Amino acid sequence: KPLVFSGVQPTGNLHLGNYLGAIRKFVVLQDQMDCLFCVVDLHALTAQLVHEDLKDQTREIAAAYLAAGIDPEKHIVFNQAAVPGHAQLAWIFNCVARIGWMNRMTQFKDKAGKDRENASLGLLAYPSLMAADILLYRATHVPVGDDQKQHLELTRDIAQKFNIDFSARIAASGHGVELTNGDEVINGYFPMAEPLIEGPAPRIMSLRDGRKKMSKSDPSDLSRINLTDDAETITRKIRKAKTDPEPLPESVDQLEERPEARNLVGIYAALSDRTAQRVLDEFGGQPFSTFKPALAELAVSVLEPINAEMRRLKADPGHIDAVLKDGAERANVRAQQTISEVNEIIGLL
Ligand code: ATP
Ligand code: MG
Repeated sequence: KPLVFSGVQPTGNLHLGNYLGAIRKFVVLQDQMDCLFCVVDLHALTAQLVHEDLKDQTREIAAAYLAAGIDPEKHIVFNQAAVPGHAQLAWIFNCVARIGWMNRMTQFKDKAGKDRENASLGLLAYPSLMAADILLYRATHVPVGDDQKQHLELTRDIAQKFNIDFSARIAASGHGVELTNGDEVINGYFPMAEPLIEGPAPRIMSLRDGRKKMSKSDPSDLSRINLTDDAETITRKIRKAKTDPEPLPESVDQLEERPEARNLVGIYAALSDRTAQRVLDEFGGQPFSTFKPALAELAVSVLEPINAEMRRLKADPGHIDAVLKDGAERANVRAQQTISEVNEIIGLL
């Protein structure tokens, strides 16, 4: 049965990339499938252990989910730490995955930087916890930005190794299901979760550097549009966004070597649910002095109502906490079933 799982870390500065790469897709998917949307607070500890205001940052992401239009009664909205199964399954997956798999992850290399020996063990094992998040519910679809593609491949590798290593015990337990694995149909326990990445802007880039992803952790606030920015700030950041001096081209192929132009066109396309080519049909040949104000107006019209609703929700943290608690209770019922089946398959007493 199709099931969606995804999450966002409560690491501050929620931005347009998180909205377009993740949250906006959640809102569309909730009409098609059963969904769990998580605030992945345990992941937030991997890059930095001590946070000033982790509880408020957690509420902030939950507020963004609700403000964007996610229905927490039809679906499940919760924080990871409130469901112990995530950490439990992550431990099992630490023993399934190989160190070499983790060492190859580009996010680990980027975030660990030069002093890799001094990165937390949690940062190295991040993808194992992420695999646990998804497979704890045996989710089949994971809406994420393009930067998470490699972690999804690793999630499939973990699922596949578990299914193969324990195939006889899975069959004996009666908890296996028919899974298609390439051309063959096997009886396995964990599904091959598929990333949902497509769209006109799968990776939103920094407004200051078209070759770097827009990120919460970028020290320059001008590099990103935050979901908490007011109309004036959004307009100013787009006006100051780096571009080349040429007018916009007529065709998307001509954006290849122009990362900043391509990024802004992609953002316009994603915010207006059009293809990049449709945007160029309208703006091709025009200078950035015409395109940027139009983009700013569009961004404000989409983000302003979300921003206002987030502020309204955050004024009542008790309500957000109640939504998260209810979600965690419902998630926990499903999680505990998986944990007990996995323990049985492995042979833990
Ligand atoms: P951090 O720098 O702390 O890792 P982040 O901005 O990468 O923060 P995450 O919480 O790691 O945010 O990711 C949440 C979701 O947002 C993921 O699905 C991720 O793929 C997506 N995402 C993050 N940055 C972008 C981006 N620039 N473009 C598109 N999607 C993005
Ligand atoms: Mg990230």
